[in-house]
Amino acid sequence: MKTILVTGGAGFIGSNFVRLLLGTKADYHVINVDKLTYAGNLSTIDDIMDHTRHTFVHGDIADATLIEELFSRSRIDIVVNFAAESHVDRSIEDPSVFVRSNILGVQILLDAAKRYQIEKFVQISTDEVYGELGETGYFTEQTPLNPSSPYSASKTSADLLVQAWHRTYGLNTNITRCSNNYGPYQFPEKLIPVMIYKALQNTPLPVYGDGSNIRDWIHVYDHNQAVLQIMEHGQSGRVYNIGSSNECSNLTVVKTILDILGKPHSLIEFVTDRLGHDWRYAIDARRLRNELSWTPQYSFQDGLKQTVDWYLEHQSWWKDLLENQ
Ligand code: NAD
Repeated sequence: MKTILVTGGAGFIGSNFVRLLLGTKADYHVINVDKLTYAGNLSTIDDIMDHTRHTFVHGDIADATLIEELFSRSRIDIVVNFAAESHVDRSIEDPSVFVRSNILGVQILLDAAKRYQIEKFVQISTDEVYGELGETGYFTEQTPLNPSSPYSASKTSADLLVQAWHRTYGLNTNITRCSNNYGPYQFPEKLIPVMIYKALQNTPLPVYGDGSNIRDWIHVYDHNQAVLQIMEHGQSGRVYNIGSSNECSNLTVVKTILDILGKPHSLIEFVTDRLGHDWRYAIDARRLRNELSWTPQYSFQDGLKQTVDWYLEHQSWWKDLLENQ
């Protein structure tokens, strides 16, 4: 039995990852540490809370004493770090907590990982570290780091720390850089869940600028399958891009959600664009596909329909979160 420390496992992607591990890998015990910020909620992990191979710890990765306690109490083999402040708009309002959780927190985890000589450290990064693309081209793992927002700058800083711990101390690391995720349990502040709940309430759907910004969408299940492959088989020190070639403008995403729900496009309301809004992201994931034989399961159409259905069936989950923000 191996012990994996999953951080941020009460958030969107982390909770889906813990669920995937518990459901498919009988030889892992998961210690799930989460600060339970506004984005992390116990209702998100209600169904797995009492699982015999799951231990939940309410705590902050930037708390060095707590992290030391966790490592000294259990023999941790692997760290998968999802914990982060993750919302670009919030980082524009107040970058300070992004620096603390996304940079200092990573340094504290890396120090512990080095001290206890763990087997593997996986840093969940983002394609936003590459900045933005024009009409053509793709982000590869060699694309220069050129972040735009305080959020992406903090994630880039963390990537550089991880790289340094690999080169200087020989820590076995991987960095994953994934495109925009969607799927069950995404906090209702990100584009897709916001549009679903606003459409359900027949209230205007706010779209930044003219809605032409392009994102490369991936279902959270496909992202997490890739993380699992990388965690188990990724080459030491390597960065892996993750993406499933589903480029789509924000406006098309919003219109598709309205169509799935049978709501009129007249609900769309164009609002002032986000500051420093990156125009296009698109991922070249050939390294992941070729080296680790990963392929995504979801087409964007099927995944979006499944996600809309999930939000329809779990209205009390997102309504409670919105009320208690
Ligand atoms: P999320 O905001 O839904 O979840 C983040 C979780 O981390 C929350 O449960 C929160 O409570 C926890 N957390 C925050 N600060 C913490 C701290 N200091 N200590 C412990 N826990 C803390 O975010 P998400 O969308 O699930 O993203 C998870 C990771 O994936 C992040 O690192 C993000 O940068 C990365 N990522 C996200 C996307 C996306 O589209 N959502 C795409 C690529 C990469």
